[in-house]
Amino acid sequence: MSVTCTLCFHHCVLEEGRTGLCRARANRDGAIVPLNYGRLTALALDPIEKKPLRRFHPGSVILSAGSFGCNLRCSFCQNAEIAAAGTEAYTRTCTPEQLVQQALALREKGNIGVAYTYNEPLVGYEYVRDCAALVRRAGMVNVLVTNGTIEEAPWRALLPLLDGVNIDLKGFTEAWYRRLGGDLETVKRSIALAAEQCHLEVTTLVVPGENDSDEEMRALSGWLASVSPEIPLHVSRFFPRHRMQDRPPTPVQTVYRLAGIAREQLRYVYTGNC
Ligand code: SF4
Repeated sequence: MSVTCTLCFHHCVLEEGRTGLCRARANRDGAIVPLNYGRLTALALDPIEKKPLRRFHPGSVILSAGSFGCNLRCSFCQNAEIAAAGTEAYTRTCTPEQLVQQALALREKGNIGVAYTYNEPLVGYEYVRDCAALVRRAGMVNVLVTNGTIEEAPWRALLPLLDGVNIDLKGFTEAWYRRLGGDLETVKRSIALAAEQCHLEVTTLVVPGENDSDEEMRALSGWLASVSPEIPLHVSRFFPRHRMQDRPPTPVQTVYRLAGIAREQLRYVYTGNC
């Protein structure tokens, strides 16, 4: 029997035993199951600024967990070895209870909670949800670093458990998002909803020749300011990675120029990877 996954707009229709586009969710016995539940590819105590979050518990560190899978197909992916991977990628298992115990044990080193990051955490929705509930109960914070590609109902259900979120806004044209296998309007909705409920920052990776025009940054930052001019925006520099090796890194001057345009409408704009 085929089943449709309704977690994101792809709405993969999966025959028995088949895995979705994200490589993280599959049809097992007529139900959609997350293959990456409790299966980690990375676990590290990171500075909160590395997420990046600049205006959320500055100077602190956070236990950062990653699994495998992603529901976009960015040719310039900076984490392709885990994001574009399937079950072969995980290196350890970790139940939600074990993750919270580790987070608590690291408190003495300044740990404030758990960040779900590295791959696209939302394709492992159930693990994030279950961990986040325990982390919250333990009096620590939950941070999510995401591409924001999720349907409205599960996003609304998860947001009350989240304290800090960074959403990638990969550009501001539908054409660019289509090339990445994504949907701009979905990400805009996720940003608007997150801004209502938790601390939100946004990251835009500037890819030379793709999303680096003044007009696009003016439109992107103008829209973000219409949600709230207080939302921090990280304008970040691209380096050749994965399947996009045909161009040089973004010139630093381009990043500075675009950040300057964003500052015309947003109060907090940061440059990244410069
Ligand atoms: S979360 Fe994965 S399986 Fe579900 S619809 Fe999106 S890409 Fe398909």
